[in-house]
Amino acid sequence: MEKLRENLRNFAKEREWLQFHSPKNLAMALCVEAAEIIEIFQWLTREQSFNLDESGREHLAEEIGDVMIYLTNLADKFGIDPLEAAHAKMIKNAKKYPVDKAKGLARKYNEL
Ligand SMILES: [Mg+2]
Repeated sequence: MEKLRENLRNFAKEREWLQFHSPKNLAMALCVEAAEIIEIFQWLTREQSFNLDESGREHLAEEIGDVMIYLTNLADKFGIDPLEAAHAKMIKNAKKYPVDKAKGLARKYNEL
């Protein structure tokens, strides 16, 4: 994670792009890249979405990389480690969605 963060900082610094990396812009770019993932699956059937061909899988990997880049850049602006944040959120999620209440259900925690 630290290596990625460092590479991203250097990449932007070398290109003088940090001036464009406001949290607002990074959040918007993150959403655009997430939408590019959606675009890959748009109009596919449920079955097709599980079975991307090789070029579809490569495209997905690129967009996942883009999302990770912007997510890491945004988190870096606030000194947040995305992996630590995800682990911390999983602990909260486990409490919000206890197995005995949530098992097999696609409901929000307040509807359990
Ligand atoms: Mg992209």
